[in-house]
Formats: sequence, structure tokens, C-alpha cells
Amino acid sequence: MQFADNPQAWHEVPPTAGLPLHLSDLLPGRADLAPAIADFLQVEHAQLESSGTAALIVALHALHGLAPHRHIVVIPAYTCPLVALAVVQAGLTLRICDLQPDSLALDTQMLSDMCDSRTLAILPTHLCGRVSAIHDIQAVAQACGAWVIEDAAQALGAKVGNDSVGSQSDIAIFSLAVGKGLSIYEGGVLIARDPAIRAACAAVSQRLAPARPLIEAQRAIELAAYALLYRPALLPLSYGRPLRHALYLDDWLAAAGDCFPARTVLHKPGKWRQAVGVRALKRLPAFQADLHQQAVRRLPQLRAINSITVLEDEEGKGTWPVFILLLPDRADRDAALQALWGSGCGVSLPFVHALPDYPYLQELIPAAALEKRALPNARRLAARILSISNSPWLDDASFSYICATLANICKRSY
Ligand SMILES: *Cc1c(COP(=O)(O)O)cnc(C)c1O
Repeated sequence: MQFADNPQAWHEVPPTAGLPLHLSDLLPGRADLAPAIADFLQVEHAQLESSGTAALIVALHALHGLAPHRHIVVIPAYTCPLVALAVVQAGLTLRICDLQPDSLALDTQMLSDMCDSRTLAILPTHLCGRVSAIHDIQAVAQACGAWVIEDAAQALGAKVGNDSVGSQSDIAIFSLAVGKGLSIYEGGVLIARDPAIRAACAAVSQRLAPARPLIEAQRAIELAAYALLYRPALLPLSYGRPLRHALYLDDWLAAAGDCFPARTVLHKPGKWRQAVGVRALKRLPAFQADLHQQAVRRLPQLRAINSITVLEDEEGKGTWPVFILLLPDRADRDAALQALWGSGCGVSLPFVHALPDYPYLQELIPAAALEKRALPNARRLAARILSISNSPWLDDASFSYICATLANICKRSY
């Protein structure tokens, strides 16, 4: 799977551009991360949870408590499988909405047909840092009395005008997991505009997310190991080797990191991990500005490849952990993965499947969504999507090598 002419072959680029931790971030200390993140987002208040999924579960419980007669939650057909699992764990009913063609945005016509007086919430998603437009979705939500929860798990720092993504919706969640911008190994953040919703979320968290010292000890060790191993010379060990082993076994779900446990344990993140997050957060604005500049520099090279679609922000200014591309068809995409995934240059998949096509999710998915011809746009997107890391460790020569490889593969489609 290694390519002799791949200039990056000697080291390993992570699949997304996470903020590298400094060893000094790991010094002893105790802090509150939530107010620091509220400050970063320029919102009044933020609530810290043990993961993005935990934040979503807390949000759903809180909203259901405010409207017990509503129990349906609509999510996009191409997103993190944890989102579907969170809805089920919150005891609510899952509905899956297709995307617009060649887009990460919800199909608003289908969405509006799905929503009624039983709909609790709609979850538009800013996938991979790309900002989706949510006005139409807010209009659909308003028409049926549902709330909007923006899934900004991968978009901490993305803006619409001067506001953080999600700050104009009822609730937004962000992830602090490995590979998602700022990481404390596992963590999540929830923001809510309305004080009543905020209070409901705080009360649910109080009830469902106790301190769990054993889990916290494990997370602290994992965070320290992650800080040590997240560097080009050591990533072959922590990321590359398991990746290449999974690819050797043809296990794409393991290779893409798409295997998740059915239930998420909610707990309070400890003060030391929060202190690590507070120290690292100070470097996030400069880091994200560098990623933005690198993206601006590299996007034209990607757009110049014939027959490739580069997914961009619908509005606002996203973050750039990765570039998201659509290739002409599945054969080209799979050829690109064959050539590049596992070669150390940061090419990967955001998620392997549209939600109904994950074998381990199938018993949770509504029957209509399981039909072969359902959700055509999301399935076509999943078959053609590919991500390229925007890590600063991916040098220009390697990026050009990726572009040349993609151009070569897509030429065959003409
Ligand atoms: C990662 C992710 C989540 C879940 O966040 P965790 O912190 O991993 O629980 C939710 N939605 C999207 C779009 C994600 O990428």
C-alpha cells in the first residue's frame, strides 16, 4: 500500500487537523473549561459534557422534558453514527432525512414533509467544518413547533457573520473528541440561547452525568498518551499501523473509526483535563487562522481537478480540519482510496456509509430508510466522498502528489 513516489511515505499525517497539545499543557492544574469556551465562542454561557454525544443526549432529554408529547428527532442521512445512537439512547424516535444533491445540507422539501406536531427537534449538521445554511431549516422547525439543534461537533470556531455557528439556534453542540479541533480526548460542549432551555439542560446534566472517577482516570491517561503520540514521527504507531491493518482486513469501518458502542456513558469531565483544555484553547485561534490560510492556498489546486466537486461553506466562515471532495463515481473514489488511504498522507473518509447502510445500526433505522432506493442523495454522496487532511504536517509536495493522483484517476471517467 506504500508508494515509492509518495513524498510523505516516511511519516504519517493525521486524517484531520487537530490542535497538537504541548507537553506543558499537561502540567498539574485545575480549571473550568466551560467559561473559557463560552469566551472563545463569544456566547454568554456554555455547558461542558463528557462528549459531543453526551451533550446531544442531554439536549434531547431537556427538550423532551419541555415538550413531552413530542418524540421524533430528524437527523441527516449522512452523519456520525453516534448521532443516531444518541437519539435512541434518549428514548426518542429516529427519522432520517436525505440531503440535497452533492451537498451536506438537509433536503428541505423532504424535511418539511416529515415534520409535524410530534417532531421534537431537527439536527442540521456542519459536517467537517463546512457551514450549512440553516434559515430554511429554521423555517420548517418554526412551522411545526420543533426546536433546532445544530450539530457543530466538527465546527468549533466556525462563524456566520460575527456569531459562532449555532449561537442563533435553540441549541448547538460541539465535540472535544480526538480529531475534532480542540481535544481533551473526550469532551463535548452545549450552548443554548434561551435561559429556560439552558436551565433544563443544566438540570438534566446534574441528574444524568455524575462524576465517575474511574472513567475520568482512564480519560486522563488517554489524554496524556494522545498528547505524546500526536506528532508526525509517532503517528505511524498510534494511527498508521492500526489503519493499515484494518485496510489489510478490508475493514473500512475500523479504518475510518466508524465503530461506536451502542451506549454512551455520561459523566463530568475532571478539572485536570479541563485545565489542559484551557491551556490549549489559547492557541486555537492562531492555529485555526493558519489552517484557514492553508485552505485558501490549497483550494484552487483542488478546484482545478476536472470532474471533482469540492464541498464548500454555504454561508459564513467554516473551520478547515479537512477538505471534502466528491469524485465522479464510486469506482473512481474507491480507486483513490486504494492508492491513498493508508499511504500516510491524510486521505480518508469522513464516514463510510449513509446511516441505513451501517450493519450495526440497522435495527434502529426506520423501515422506510432501509429500502434500497431511499435516501438516494446521501447514498450517492457516501459512495463518492473522500477527505484530505488539512493538517499543517501535510507538506506542499505531498498535497500536490494527492492532487496528481486524483486527477489521474478521474481522467478515466471522461
Ligand atoms: C464526532 C461527531 C459527533 C459526536 O461527538 P463525540 O464527541 O465523538 O461524541 C456528533 N456529530 C458529528 C457530526 C460528529 O462528527
